[in-house]
Amino acid sequence: MKKIDPSLVSTIVRRAVLDCLAANRSSQMKPEEPLRIFTSPEANALKKEIVRVGRKLWERQYVDGNGGNISARISPHYVLCTPTLCSKGDLRVEDLSLVDLDNYQICGDRPQTSEILLHLEIYKAVPQAKAVIHCHPPYATAHAVAGVVPPGNLIPEQEVFVGPVALAPYETPGTHAFARTVLPYVKHHNTVLLANHGIVCWADTVTHAEWYVEVVDTYCKTILIASQLRPKLNEIPPDKIADLLVLKKSLGLPDPRLENDEAPTGEVEALTHSMAELQQKVSSGKRPGKYEIDELVSRLSAEVLAFLSGAA
Ligand SMILES: [Zn+2]
Repeated sequence: MKKIDPSLVSTIVRRAVLDCLAANRSSQMKPEEPLRIFTSPEANALKKEIVRVGRKLWERQYVDGNGGNISARISPHYVLCTPTLCSKGDLRVEDLSLVDLDNYQICGDRPQTSEILLHLEIYKAVPQAKAVIHCHPPYATAHAVAGVVPPGNLIPEQEVFVGPVALAPYETPGTHAFARTVLPYVKHHNTVLLANHGIVCWADTVTHAEWYVEVVDTYCKTILIASQLRPKLNEIPPDKIADLLVLKKSLGLPDPRLENDEAPTGEVEALTHSMAELQQKVSSGKRPGKYEIDELVSRLSAEVLAFLSGAA
């Protein structure tokens, strides 16, 4: 059996990464005009929707103190978001800001939410995500604190609009590490429980993301009450769940049960994401740092070597 030369693998991987980034640079898009976007009629409508939804979250007690945050993608590179240190019950249109996918605040007087990294990771990983809400609804958060994923197949609304819920591991809020905890799940789940913290939902609109928050929190509450009436709950029969999945597919909602292909997980998923991030950076006219490229090449080389070793 021929020995694999790690330095040769690393050289080939580096060349592939640099070629890939160069291709992105040549297809660079025209820079957008952030201020025009931020003050456009479309942005104004989205800002009003965010303020209205913030009020609903506060009235339903899904956000406490200055907790929770809302964002909406307004163009491929820009996101409107709520400010840090602001009760969602007091939110005003003029409090919102515009950030790019690299977390640079472009417009707005108040600093962006400290949890924006979580939102941006979801936008970068899920092209169909147009709105993200993070909040602390008590019943869903109780499940996240207990480390209990709510069982499925019990109520049609949950199956159609939310589906299986994932549980992401705990990390310190506001950090890159925290933002990345959801990456293995967000492509196939629109709702993720965040261990010892709260939940995050994404959708095609801010209004719909708030609906998912309501659906999942009510679901968790109902399960809690039903389990006290009878520990073993009655499930919807499999053929009736199949009917619900047909309906879900017709609505274009993601569900891991609808996926035919094996989704990449773990390090492969993380590597795909890191590469997409670098491509995004290059296509928006920025230069990735040498450290970023070195780190990606090193991780990719390790994966290739592990694959070749297993296949040899
Ligand atoms: Zn939070």
